[in-house]
Order: sequence, then structure tokens, then C-alpha cells
Amino acid sequence: MFVMVPIRPFGRLVEMLRSTEPLRDGYGRQLTYLRVSVTEKCNLRCFYCLPRDCGHPARSHELDLSEVAEVVQVGVALGITKIRITGGEPLVRRGLVDFVRTLRSLPGVTDLALSTNGTLLAERATALKSAGLMRVNVSLDSLQPAVFRTISGRNDLERVVGGIDAARAAGLHPVKLNVVVMRGVNDDELPAMLDFATDHGAQARFIEYMPLGLGKRWASSYVSRADILERLRPQLATLHPRQEPGDAATYYPLLGGGEVGVISPVSCRFCDRCNRLRLTADGKLRPCLTSEGEVDLRHALSPTVSHDAIADCFHVATAGRPQQGTYTTDEADRAAIAARPMATIGG
Ligand code: SAM
Repeated sequence: MFVMVPIRPFGRLVEMLRSTEPLRDGYGRQLTYLRVSVTEKCNLRCFYCLPRDCGHPARSHELDLSEVAEVVQVGVALGITKIRITGGEPLVRRGLVDFVRTLRSLPGVTDLALSTNGTLLAERATALKSAGLMRVNVSLDSLQPAVFRTISGRNDLERVVGGIDAARAAGLHPVKLNVVVMRGVNDDELPAMLDFATDHGAQARFIEYMPLGLGKRWASSYVSRADILERLRPQLATLHPRQEPGDAATYYPLLGGGEVGVISPVSCRFCDRCNRLRLTADGKLRPCLTSEGEVDLRHALSPTVSHDAIADCFHVATAGRPQQGTYTTDEADRAAIAARPMATIGG
């Protein structure tokens, strides 16, 4: 029997919200994309994302999934059409398949995706697809077991590869592989990653290492988009990229067919086309990944849920978006490194 995460019915209030102004920030960017973190917990300990010495984040401050669904519901009524479920590792959160089913039932959702480390995907892919999930991004930073272990703290490379294959077999399409490129760690593997993606029916996307949380290590490991392209040069058909509206990646055609994505939030910011807000697992709307401001939703959820108050939070977060994020490659600006690691913001 199917179970839905309980939410109050859409009803008249949300119909009213739908008729209000769309979420448009002070720089004319309309917001249609919500990244929803369902937990700060992760079963991996990637050194650049969730430091090994930080222990397990407390569960007590996480929103219930029914509360998260209420927030998403109001966001959708305000014009959000694309939702990505993330974390931490979203597949460690109990009730996730039912949550997916609930989000998919919201009228207006045209894209429902999940970011995962892939370790639990083999056993969940079919259920997630049946619940209405459309596609997945799987993080995979190395194809060498020893390097995978050094980065993530676990010997799970085979499970991740099994998860990628299971996602494809379940019809979660496209499967995108996200690779954070780090000098001296995995930057010699980029051509092999491209071949692996092709062999597994997936699309590789190389991501610049961002100065979040662990800035000292960042400075010596960062690889720019230009350097990433240099390493991929023999496999690229052209250096003329393609962009899709609302997509952070820039896509380059490959000689053998298909495309590779490069995401360069540091060297080549895409703020001018940023259309997203983030909902953290502890109930905050974050207007910009790289800026510290957040809008706390808790008063809008407890002791009773108020759709009006949630809508107000969306409008405040939208109005609070800076024109540009704060990452730069300048030495002097490294002090601006965000304090929260990615796992606690929602990647
Ligand atoms: N657990 C899921 C996963 O592994 O995809 C979702 C959360 S994870 C925080 C989302 C993405 O953020 C991963 O691809 C991860 O590699 C990336 N990430 C984390 N910290 C980063 C950093 N400092 N720079 C670039 N990407 C980062």
C-alpha cells in the first residue's frame, strides 16, 4: 500500500498564493528551483564536505518530513517547479520514498531529482522511481578504491557503481555523475571518469572545489575550470560550450558523442542565472549558497503550520538574495569562506 507524508490539503489558501507575484529577486531573477535538504547526516565522511571529527549532527533539530513537505508545497504555489532532494545523504532519512511520492503529487512540480552518494541506491532505485522520482545525480570522486576510501572514509566504491547501474536500470534518467576535482587527489582521473560515465550510460560533470567549511585544504587543492578543460582537451570536440537556462553546468560536446558538464562556481560564477533557493534540514531558507544569510521557518511551522507565514519567509529570502556570491580566487577574500560545510547546508 502506498503511503504519503501527511500535509494539509492545498486548498483555497494556496490557490490564493498562486495568484500572487512570482518569487523574483531584486535583480530580476525569477526563482523556480528549490534544493531541499532532508538531513545533515551522511554515511560517508568526505574530507572536504563533512569532516571526520565533527561527529553525527543531532537529529533533534531536523524538521519532520511532513513539515518539509508543507514548506515545499507553499514554494510550489509561489512558482517553484524544480525540486532537488539532497542532504547530507538523503537516502539515510527514513520515510524518503513516501516523501518523494508526496512531492510528486504537488501540482506544478515538473522536475523532481535527488542528489546521492549512491551507496544505498541499488536497494532503493526501483522504489524511488515508482514513487515518482525523475532522475538522480550521483557523487563519485574516484574510480580507484584506495583514493575513494581516502576521500570518503569508506570502502564503498563497488556499492556506488552498483547504485549507478541500478538507477539506470530503474529508468531514472539521466544519471549524472558529479565529480569534485581536487589537485593531487583525483585530478589525474578525469579522462577515465569520462569513459566510465559513457560506459555506464551516465553523464559526467566536473565541479570546482568550493571554499566551504574547510578553507585551508581548499587553497592547495582547488582546480579551475580552465585547468579542468585542459585535462579533458583530447576528448573534447570543441571548447564552445552550451548552457541550459537555470542549470549551473556548462556543457561541452565530446569527440565520441555526448557531452561533459563543468560547474565552476569559483572561477566563473553563474549568479546572473541563479534561480534557486535552499531549504536546510534544520528549517532555514538560504537565499545564496555562498552568503551567510538565512531565514528561519520554525515560527511558521510550530505550534501550528501557517502557509501565510511560510510564504512570507519565501518572500523575505527572495528579497535577501545578493547580486553575487562571495567566492573568489583572491587570496584576500578567502576570509569570506562560508562557515557551514556543504553537508549541513544541503549540497
Ligand atoms: N550526499 C549527497 C551526495 O553525495 O551527492 C548530497 C549532498 S552532497 C553535500 C552534494 C554535493 O556537494 C556532492 O556532489 C559533493 O561532492 C558536493 N560538495 C560538498 N562540498 C563541496 C565543496 N567544498 N566543493 C564542491 N562540491 C562540494
